[in-house]
Amino acid sequence: MSKSILSAREDFPILSQTINDLPLVYLDNAATTQKPQAVIDAISDYYRTSNANIHRGNHSLAIQATQAYENVRKKVAAYINAASAEEIIFTRGTTEAINLVAYSFGEAFVQPGDEIIVSQLEHHSNYVPWHLMCQRRGATFRVIPFDENGELDLLALQQLVNKRTRLLAVNQVSNSLGTVNPIGQIVKMAHEANVPVLVDGAQAVQHTVHDVQAMDADFYAFSGHKMYAPMGVGVLYAKRKWLEKLPPFLSGGEMIDQVTPEKVTFNVLPYKFEAGTPNVADVIGLGAAIDYLNQFDFAELEAYEDELLEYGLGLLSEIPGLKVYGNPKKRSAILPFNVEGIQHYDMGILLDSKGIAVRTGQHCTQPVMDALHITGTVRASLALYNNHADLEALARGVARVIRLLKR
Ligand code: PMP
Repeated sequence: MSKSILSAREDFPILSQTINDLPLVYLDNAATTQKPQAVIDAISDYYRTSNANIHRGNHSLAIQATQAYENVRKKVAAYINAASAEEIIFTRGTTEAINLVAYSFGEAFVQPGDEIIVSQLEHHSNYVPWHLMCQRRGATFRVIPFDENGELDLLALQQLVNKRTRLLAVNQVSNSLGTVNPIGQIVKMAHEANVPVLVDGAQAVQHTVHDVQAMDADFYAFSGHKMYAPMGVGVLYAKRKWLEKLPPFLSGGEMIDQVTPEKVTFNVLPYKFEAGTPNVADVIGLGAAIDYLNQFDFAELEAYEDELLEYGLGLLSEIPGLKVYGNPKKRSAILPFNVEGIQHYDMGILLDSKGIAVRTGQHCTQPVMDALHITGTVRASLALYNNHADLEALARGVARVIRLLKR
């Protein structure tokens, strides 16, 4: 039987803290999630019992640490339904995963006059690396706009794709509006024109059922720290055919086969893309986070979080002068808003004085804010341990700030 979602909160020790003498209401999960005790224990157990450098050693600890690390690769592959563990590359996070593809793919496949398409809904980490790659390669940077509901304009995408398009980069869920993009449809449109797709799953992999083979993404990137795992570890999934063709991104130890003054040859997959000593402890923490998540029924988890989101949107919409941004057909875990006449930054500081943690500003999505003609939003974002009481505290907190500043 799967674990009850309502029991999750007690697994996260940090949530029982007080902030400014009030119980912590943590609603900044899109920035990073908190960690369950099982993840914290896995990291400290690793350092207490198994720490060694992996792959190269032949002593017991090195073998133990290597096995633990490689087991997590298999867990990640199963978690996102990759065809094989060799298609899983450990990185520092989504940002590094996307940079890896932008560099390696750019070097191998992008020529002057070629085109790259990204969406206007992207986090800077799925925007800037492509911008820079276009500058390096003499390629043209194209952007799919979004409409008044915060949904991508797929007709515009249809018109943007052409024979010079080399790659499309798009997120599964927008971190500033929460829009769930129709990834299946987008991938299909791109593939019909022979264009590979990189999907940024940073705001999706912890909330929705995930299957990279069904999605048919060529590349899929995500961060551990947004899925209850430690900071400093992330994943690049890529179809084997691409990993075989792409040159390495970082080079050094472990990623080589032969090294002579004349020539360097590369290690097999996935090691060709993992130069140097990896972040073993946090990879093991990621494995513990996946074990933790696998205790839940994911359809149930998604339904629970969707209900929470609707509840929160309902409460916020009753507050006079409050505007929620975007109205996509499907939204996930993000409540972006502003109150007329109140700076988002001031709202954040005053909510914090009541123990409520939200994020304010541009959320690393300046193109989204520019399109909305605003400098930023207040963003409350959800995780599986949030509940109605958290959202009621948020709504009360916002109403209090309005009373305070508008008296
Ligand atoms: N993409 C999206 C959609 C994100 O929300 C984030 C983090 N806010 C990133 C990419 C970057 O992730 P990281 O900083 O963990 O590399």
